[in-house]
Amino acid sequence: MLDIESKVIENYEVLHQLPELGFAEQQTAAFLAAGLRQAGYKVTDQIGGTGVIGILTGSQTGPVVAIRADMDALAHCVAGQESAIHSCGHDANSAMVLTVAQAIAAKGISKGILKVIFQPAEETLGGAQEMIAAGAVTDVDMLLGIHLRPIEEARLGQATPALYHGASAIIEAEISGVAAHGARPHLGINVIDAAAAVVHAVNAIHVNPTVPASVKVTKLHAGGQALNAVPDRAELALDLRAQHNEIMDELTEKTKRAVVAAAATIGATAVTRIRGFVPAAEYDVDLINRAGEAIKEILGPEGLISGIHTPGGEDFHFYKQSKSGLKTCYIGLGADLTPGLHHPAMQFNIDALGYGVRILINLIDKSLVG
Ligand SMILES: [Zn+2]
Ligand SMILES: [Zn+2]
Repeated sequence: MLDIESKVIENYEVLHQLPELGFAEQQTAAFLAAGLRQAGYKVTDQIGGTGVIGILTGSQTGPVVAIRADMDALAHCVAGQESAIHSCGHDANSAMVLTVAQAIAAKGISKGILKVIFQPAEETLGGAQEMIAAGAVTDVDMLLGIHLRPIEEARLGQATPALYHGASAIIEAEISGVAAHGARPHLGINVIDAAAAVVHAVNAIHVNPTVPASVKVTKLHAGGQALNAVPDRAELALDLRAQHNEIMDELTEKTKRAVVAAAATIGATAVTRIRGFVPAAEYDVDLINRAGEAIKEILGPEGLISGIHTPGGEDFHFYKQSKSGLKTCYIGLGADLTPGLHHPAMQFNIDALGYGVRILINLIDKSLVG
């Protein structure tokens, strides 16, 4: 029988020494693929770039349960030095999921299929879509995710069965006007006037206030060296957030319309482009309840905390969007994590990893064993 607590720390320590950026997780993927192969999984690597999938088949037919972990680190500049750091804890997520895979393989599953998905490039939000394009979830019935949470959201010994990420998107806008001499502005169309109109129009957008949502201009670039000339090109960027996908759709449509219409008020034209979209979380209620039971059984009733709503985005939710009927849930795991995710000095209590592994094993056992 595998010693879960020491195995997960051993896996974590290896992965922690291999921080690699999105789509460059070669050493990470090689370690994870080797670990799965050794445990008896049928492994395919280089999926969607550096992704790895392991498959363990039970003796009887049953559901396909998948666990997904992300593998990438973030680029940070510390004391003038650029480096990749696992400041979002994806080394922890991968270590937990690998250990779950190893522990379940050691005792075997009686039915169905366990599919272990190691996904590249979550931070740049391209990895999940690559895995989907490669068919990673076409046969999957249930998909589970897990991530460490900052101390404000959950303490060590606590976990939520439902971490509700919001939807987010960037809209880039390019405004075109007509250049002119500063002395003859009536012959031009000043894109700075258009951009100012856009800012006001966007700030006047309203959606249902019971759902957290926001849109704001995050970049404005216009004008150049010639301070005595009317500029004819401006670039804007807008950051959009919403906790529900329907509200995000509405916000996106209203923002695109506001940008184009506001620019048109002075005769300028605007073209918009959506970048970096991620959908909001949509989970299966039964699966959340089952995950809640698993958390209670491992951490005790006091360890189960209700759903956490976070404005951060996660590309995990593209899997659900890609396959209607796919049941998903995503566990937020307390780890006394400080000072916060994406901080280069992020640290957490390593005891959390054993809890995460045991919760996932319990949850998977409810579907694939017995
Ligand atoms: Zn992150
Ligand atoms: Zn993360």
